[in-house]
Amino acid sequence: MPFDLATRLAERRAAHLYRQRPLLDSPQGPLVRVDGRELLAFCSNDYLGLANHPQVIEAWRAGAHRWGVGGGASHLVIGHSTPHHELEEALAAFTGRPRALLFSTGYMANLGAVTALLGQGDTVLEDRLNHASLLDAGLLSGARFSRYLHNDAQSLAGRLAKANGNTLVVTDGVFSMDGDLADLPALCAEAKQRDAWVMVDDAHGFGPLGATGGGIVEHFGLGPDDVQVLVGTLGKAFGTAGAFVAGSEELIETLVQFARPYIYTTSQPPALACATLKSLELLRSEHWRREHLATLIQRFRAGAEAIGLSLVDSPTPIQPIMVGDSDRALRLSQMLRERGLLVTAIRPPTVPAGSARLRVTLSAAHSVAQLELLLEALAECWPQLATVEEDKGNA
Ligand SMILES: *Cc1c(COP(=O)(O)O)cnc(C)c1O
Repeated sequence: MPFDLATRLAERRAAHLYRQRPLLDSPQGPLVRVDGRELLAFCSNDYLGLANHPQVIEAWRAGAHRWGVGGGASHLVIGHSTPHHELEEALAAFTGRPRALLFSTGYMANLGAVTALLGQGDTVLEDRLNHASLLDAGLLSGARFSRYLHNDAQSLAGRLAKANGNTLVVTDGVFSMDGDLADLPALCAEAKQRDAWVMVDDAHGFGPLGATGGGIVEHFGLGPDDVQVLVGTLGKAFGTAGAFVAGSEELIETLVQFARPYIYTTSQPPALACATLKSLELLRSEHWRREHLATLIQRFRAGAEAIGLSLVDSPTPIQPIMVGDSDRALRLSQMLRERGLLVTAIRPPTVPAGSARLRVTLSAAHSVAQLELLLEALAECWPQLATVEEDKGNA
């Protein structure tokens, strides 16, 4: 039978892998209204609490008043307006690179950068836990595609030795589902020895990491000679939407000429760039947001350890609780929800088989008291989850 979608959907459901979209009926923030209920949420990527910030909203409002709402055309036709250009210049200054190029989404920035730089006869080497958009980009490029062991410079070295043509090493800066940091000093050193370039997608590092929120490269003090292609997204700590690639003059001109997801799409609304300019200013200057986050991270890890939860070695606001099978992860998420807390279960294929988890994320907008509520609920639910398992085993 052609297009037997019903069977495919039923199989996904039976494997506890069926996805549903919670309906958010409030702005983003610690307290949200979801599916008609008030919940305390620990699962957004709004790490600095800027997605609903009054000054960012006001910048968007003023931008819309001045520039209208639509980008109107692609950047190369007549869609590249002054707010886009100013934001690019501000992002170049922020990252300490000659230039930056604005994309409509992070997914598109990754597809655009990798496919513009590589083709047949080249090699792309990726961490096996890279974000889906980076893996898709590598496959789409037509280059020889190989994945090295997670964060393993030795494994990378072995693959570099066999690489042909232009070689690009691609990694998340902060791994999106685990929260751990790429071992960039070691990875960059291997790449340099083989004249390979390094591309870092720091979607989750910009904002929380570095003295001024400059992400993992600021954290490790790495320059453009170490990381030639630096990607950031604007929908996470920046609280708005879009993405950028930062690098040399030649890199950015190459993307303008050859990156199809840059060329063949309408520019983002200019007013959105106005909002992001404001959030960039807050992200850089309001260091208290990073300090408060650090306090929350420390408290969460200490509390979780006391309960006996299994955590990942993560210094970032991404603090997954490893559960294992998808069924149990869903159950724990459901138990928390019954107590008024929203933490989503992340299951395969988003994460490797057998590593389902609750992806707890912390935000500077959370209070310590709110975090204590999460820890109290976990202390109650975690032992109950084990009991439910035993009952099931005995049945
Ligand atoms: C979210 C994310 C992206 C995609 O960015 P969008 O702007 O949401 O399309 C890319 N890379 C990583 C590591 C991400 O976490």
